[in-house]
Amino acid sequence: MEDKFNAFLSTKEIHSDKQGILAGVRVAVKDNISTKDIETTCASKILKGYIPPYDATAVARLKEAGATIAGKTNMDEFGMGSTTENSAFGPALNPRDITRAAGGSSGGSAAAVAGGLVPMALGSDTGGSIRCPASWCGIVGLKPSYGRVSRFGLIAYANSFEQIGPLATNVTDCAKLFSVIAGHDERDSPSVNKPYNFESLKADIKGKVIGIPKEYFGEGVDAEVAAVVRKAIAKLEELGATTKEVSIPSMKYALASYYVTCTCEASSNLDRFDGVRYGEIAPEMNMPWHDAYTKVRTAGFGEEVRRRILLGTFALSAGYYGKYYVKARYARQVIAKDFEAALKECDFLAGPTMPNVAPKLGELTKNPLEMYQADILTVPANIAGIPAISIPCGTAHGMPVGLQLMGRKYDEETILNAALAYEEAQA
Ligand code: GLN
Repeated sequence: MEDKFNAFLSTKEIHSDKQGILAGVRVAVKDNISTKDIETTCASKILKGYIPPYDATAVARLKEAGATIAGKTNMDEFGMGSTTENSAFGPALNPRDITRAAGGSSGGSAAAVAGGLVPMALGSDTGGSIRCPASWCGIVGLKPSYGRVSRFGLIAYANSFEQIGPLATNVTDCAKLFSVIAGHDERDSPSVNKPYNFESLKADIKGKVIGIPKEYFGEGVDAEVAAVVRKAIAKLEELGATTKEVSIPSMKYALASYYVTCTCEASSNLDRFDGVRYGEIAPEMNMPWHDAYTKVRTAGFGEEVRRRILLGTFALSAGYYGKYYVKARYARQVIAKDFEAALKECDFLAGPTMPNVAPKLGELTKNPLEMYQADILTVPANIAGIPAISIPCGTAHGMPVGLQLMGRKYDEETILNAALAYEEAQA
């Protein structure tokens, strides 16, 4: 397998002889999902050489279904980023234009699928990391409802937001892979007993009410991208749906709430990495431990990861905790309530996945705030814990555009069926 897109960090394959619904299908796995006997680094130097002694539940389920694990995919270090340029091993390239970013943080998974190296892949989505690269590479990606897929074996970045989910070239494969990984797992406390039945997948849009949150077409959304998405929504209306405008008044707090909370969670989740057992740089023992620890972590983590650990530690510290963390949690509840209210008026919400098409490599890395702003339309679904899918719906500026459908909590069925109806109408 020739990897022209820097999509893979490891191409070690593991075969399964089970005869399930993925028998013989090669599935790539993001490098923050634990794979027994295959190095799992989160694209970080600090985990170099770490070979997990166990499989994540999602990976065990893939094997049970007969899939071949096709290797580990490139990502932003620990999932922090939107372009895969924060990987310690170089960026994943967008198969639609290799001078552009594949998106992130599951950029390797998306590039592997869009580049034809594998038919499907697992990614993880904390604030958009499945939907962003799916949108920018022109494929399908689903972020499941919080709790519907086990996070056991997913190396935590901001665990109150993240879910493992499928990326594929089409809705049917995406639903099939989702059916394999969804379901209860007693080793993950928020896990719910809601398996997904692949047989329930059918093109179904007639009579559905689609809410169009006006904030999803607001400031910062590229006009050409917005026009392509509006056309896709018109297509859904042609197929028998009706639309109504809704509003998420608290949208303006979404990015701030997400970035404060996720950096706080990251600062505590990542404090376990000390380079003692794994990692490119081992601590020196001839100095006080805190000096050795600082040296290892300064060299082992990339710039963005260090920035977030510092921001999170600051926001959690005495005197600032109430001002930042508590406020961000409060905003989170308000945003979740706004989504719940909007979803009472309709069956699902629709809008663009990303405000822009895939940027040129290097375009977003100069200013971290610009990178964070790219997540404005994806983080709300993580904040609210609701399912969201990105499906290709045309091009703007010569690059793919994703249509995002967001459903009620645990109702992946409705958005998958609507996505299939749209896809079939394109064929
Ligand atoms: N870009 C967002 C972040 O950097 C989302 C990443 C993700 O979903 N893992 O936090």
